[in-house]
Order: sequence, then C-alpha cells, then structure tokens
Amino acid sequence: MHCDLLGVWQSKYPTGPYFIVINDELAEIFSEMADIEEIEGNRWESLAYRKVAANLTALGEDVREIYKRNDLRKIDGVGSAIEKKIRQYIEEGKIDAYDKLKQKYPVDFRNLRKIQGLGPKKIAALFINLGVKDVESLKSAIDAHKVAGLPGFGEKTEANLLKGIEVYSKSGASRILLGRAYGDIQSLKSYLEGTGLFDNLIIAGSARRMRESIGDVDMLASSTRRGEASEAFIGSDFVSGVVVSGESKITVNLKLGITCDLRFIDADSIGAALQYFTGSKDHNVHLRDLAISKGYKLNEYGLFKGENRIAGKDEKGIYESLGLAFIEPELRENTGEIEAAMNGTLPDIVKYEDIKSDMHMHTNDSDGRNSLEEMLERAKKNGLEYLAMTNHSAGLKIAHGLDPERFSELNARIDDESKKLGMPALKGVELEILKDGSLDLTGNTLDQMDYVLAALHQYISKDRKENTNRIVRAIQSGRVNAIAHPTGRLIGTREPYNIDLDTVIEKCLENNVFIEINGFPERSDLPADIVRRIQNAGVRFALGSDAHSVADLRFIRFAAAIARRGWLTPDKVVNTLSLNDFKKLIRK
Ligand SMILES: [Zn+2]
Ligand SMILES: [Zn+2]
Repeated sequence: MHCDLLGVWQSKYPTGPYFIVINDELAEIFSEMADIEEIEGNRWESLAYRKVAANLTALGEDVREIYKRNDLRKIDGVGSAIEKKIRQYIEEGKIDAYDKLKQKYPVDFRNLRKIQGLGPKKIAALFINLGVKDVESLKSAIDAHKVAGLPGFGEKTEANLLKGIEVYSKSGASRILLGRAYGDIQSLKSYLEGTGLFDNLIIAGSARRMRESIGDVDMLASSTRRGEASEAFIGSDFVSGVVVSGESKITVNLKLGITCDLRFIDADSIGAALQYFTGSKDHNVHLRDLAISKGYKLNEYGLFKGENRIAGKDEKGIYESLGLAFIEPELRENTGEIEAAMNGTLPDIVKYEDIKSDMHMHTNDSDGRNSLEEMLERAKKNGLEYLAMTNHSAGLKIAHGLDPERFSELNARIDDESKKLGMPALKGVELEILKDGSLDLTGNTLDQMDYVLAALHQYISKDRKENTNRIVRAIQSGRVNAIAHPTGRLIGTREPYNIDLDTVIEKCLENNVFIEINGFPERSDLPADIVRRIQNAGVRFALGSDAHSVADLRFIRFAAAIARRGWLTPDKVVNTLSLNDFKKLIRK
C-alpha cells in the first residue's frame, strides 16, 4: 500500500491499547454494583466500586497482565475483596456477588444511566414501582403517563425524561463514539496482524473517515490462508458472536457492542475496495457518476474502460485516473470535496503529524486522575512538543477547582517538573466564566498564567442573549486566550447551549481569541460541520484533549480529526506552531 492511504493511522501519538475489552467489562460491572449498592443505601461500598470502575477504565494496561504479575492490589482502590472479584472474573468469567445483586435488580443500568436526569435512586424507583427495566419500557411508562405520579418525580421530571430519551436516541443507541472504540479497533487489528495470517489488513468505513461516531467496523484483508485467517478473527477475544461466516465476508458482533465486517479482497484490487468501502455512500455515488460521465465504470474491483481495468491496485490511482486530486478520507462526505478536487481548490488540510501540542488537560489537582508528573511524562512519551496545563478554577466546585493560592503552588510545580522532565508546559487555567460574565480569577493570579482557556459550565440560561453576552464579556476582557468547548454539548446527554456562535466567533476574531476544538469524545466540540462553516472566517483554532487521565491524552487525535473534517489548513490551527511561535502569537 502507498503510505498516504494509511496516513490516518500513522500519527506519532499512540492510540492504544487503552480501551481494553476486559477492563471495560469489569468497569461496567463495578459501575452497576456501585449503582445497586447506592440504591441499597450502602454508601461506602458504592463509593469503593465507583472508584475501581473509574480506575479500571483509565488503566492503560490489560488487567490480565497485572493479574499475571500478581499486582492487582497495586491498582488504586483495589483491596482484598475487590481483588477476589477481579480474580474470579478473569478465572471464571463471572462474579458471584454481581450476579446476586443483578437478581434483585435485573435492570439495564448501563443505558438508563445515559438518560439525563436518571441516577441509581430514580432508576430503582422506576423499576420497583413500574417495572421499568430498560429505555424502551421507560418510554412506554412515560407514554402511559405513569411516571409523573411517582413520589419524587412529577410532571416536569417526566417531561425532562422524555427529552432525555430523545437526546439519547438521536445519538444512536447502536452507534458508538469513535473515540471510545478506536483503541479496541486498533488492538483487534494489531492482534490479527500478529497472527501472521494476513498479508494486508486495513480499516475502512466511517472509522477511516474518523466520524465522531460509528455504527460498525469495516475491515479489508488479503490473505493466502483465508481459512485460518477467518478462524483467527472469529476466535479472537474481541468477538462475542458470529452473524455471518462466508468465504469472502465474515460479520461478527464485537464485545464493543457493534458489528464488524471482515472482507477478503484480492491483493491487486485492494485500492478499489478501500475506496469503495471507505465511503461515504454519497461520496461514492457522486464519484461513480463522474466515472460514467467520462466513459468509465467504477466499482469495488477497480476503474474500468470497457473490459480494461485502468486503476484499482491503489486508491490514489482511482482518483488520479478520474482527474481528481487525492481526497483525504475525512473529507469524503460529498460536501463539495469532489468539485474542489476537480478544479484544484481542495485545501491542503492539517496533518496528524503537524500537531505539536495539546492545549487542554487536567491533573488530580482539580478533577483529573493523574498527577502533574504522570501527565507530563505521558505527554512526552506521546511525542508532544509542548502543552498547556489547564486545571479548573475555584468557581467550578464540583471539579475541585483551584483558588489563587493553590494555583501559585501548582504553577511553581509546573515550572519545576516541566524543567525536570524536559516537557515544556504552559501554566494555564480552564477559567470559569461567572454568572455575570466576569472571570473567576483576577489580576495577580491571571498575570502568572501563560494560557487562559475560558469556559462556560454553570448557570446556563435558556436565553440566547444572556449566554452569548457572558462569553462575549469574557472574550473582551483582554485576559483570555481561547474559549473552551464552545457549544457545551455532551453527545447523548446534553444538547448544545443556546448561544449565538456567529457573534462569539466574530468577537474572537476581533480580540485574537482562539476557538477550541475539544477532542474528548463525548464533547467533540466544536463539531466538524461548524468548523467547516467558519473555516474561512479567519479565526484560529486551539486543539485540546481535555484529558482527565494519562490515557485520555490520546483524544488530541480526535480533535485533529475534527479539524481535518472541518477542512482546516495548518495555519488555522495554533497547535501546528512551535512553542516559540505560539508564545509570540499570544503575546500580541
Ligand atoms: Zn470544561
Ligand atoms: Zn476541561
């Protein structure tokens, strides 16, 4: 394969394996146990399980490896009782204590929890009184108007739950955020490559286009030992069941909760197959029409003139033969990219390897899980050239925001550790925009900061003007470098804030304030379609992972993916600047 076709995978930032299936399974089990213990009024157990669940998700190493080293107790929050449970799961694939709790509450906590406004207590009340077990039966109970009458619910709660279900359904219950699945998909691919049975193995489909969520995984393979290769795939640890097993195509259910198609392709038409199975459908339809208009035929086997195949071995050749510049997978949505590729106006979009920095992250000084030292070490290992450390300010109590005194102490440590570890770090803050639009820190403390990322988290109004004015006031303060997660949306749980983004962008431009692209999967904020819409406004974008753990640092890649899907060129992305150039820019 020409390496450009795989450019998407060649970032220097490792992506995994951080989401390891068994760790996620265990984390989910402990989360449910936490929910049930909370319902039962066992606060201490609930907190203990919750802590372990969070730590398992952020572990970054397969828990079975830790088990083999006999080091389970070294995981934060794992005492002897929890160790026993993890051991039983690894050895027998079940946990007795969990099964017992589930007998009492046979409820789909995992999905119900995703409905905004539903916590364990409310889920229990719905189950005990109305027999609600899952999202579907909750919807029926609401439709029958049974929920409003329950103690502690009422008309307003019922209406809000209905809205919550709509948001949940819109995000696509059967789709999964790519940022949450990417590590597993990569791990599956490396596992299969490791068997030596595949000559070629490529991920196509929406995962290759780096869509924010995906409904399935498309893998293309070539192999001279198809039988064994199929068996290795079906028998792998990532697969929970086989849907179809044919000679050239196998469909399985992944433990991730989505399906995966593996297609065997002849090595000499793999470029055509890659083009075809990458999609999007609309892009392909347009491309096929273009081929026909030129007297060709295009399909998954190649580009043909009559019986003669003129391209198909590599993907670039297909675009070239159609008179087009190569179109990066992230752009293939039939939103003008084919026209642009035809008349030579396709922008040279920012590359993953252009990204030198991460401008948004947290340590355990506020609501992160890892220490400053751990974050800097991992950032260095990931290949970042510099970063901005942006813990919350005191106004965000829920996130243990820092007051001026603690910031002074932290800033001194940032200078020390950064020098010691050789990882340049800007002293920053994710600064609360207060209710009246003023800033949560003043003069002296702000003077110490190299980078101020202002954010709206609280007192969100229904009133568009009110929200917009708060942000505009922050932008015009002259103390702010960037606006964090501008729309405030949380995919699947919270709609975007009601704000006038055009005004926000205009004011950012006037005041040399950057707009963040937040790569945290649930945020993915700004969304790519908005980035695309404003790409020519002149405003600059600052990419951040919003990492709350060392494992989260990989989310910078998804911020970069959004920038690419938004057609951004490197000059629009401040993270492409060297540290010196970046400092010069913010001093202006
Ligand atoms: Zn935030
Ligand atoms: Zn943050």
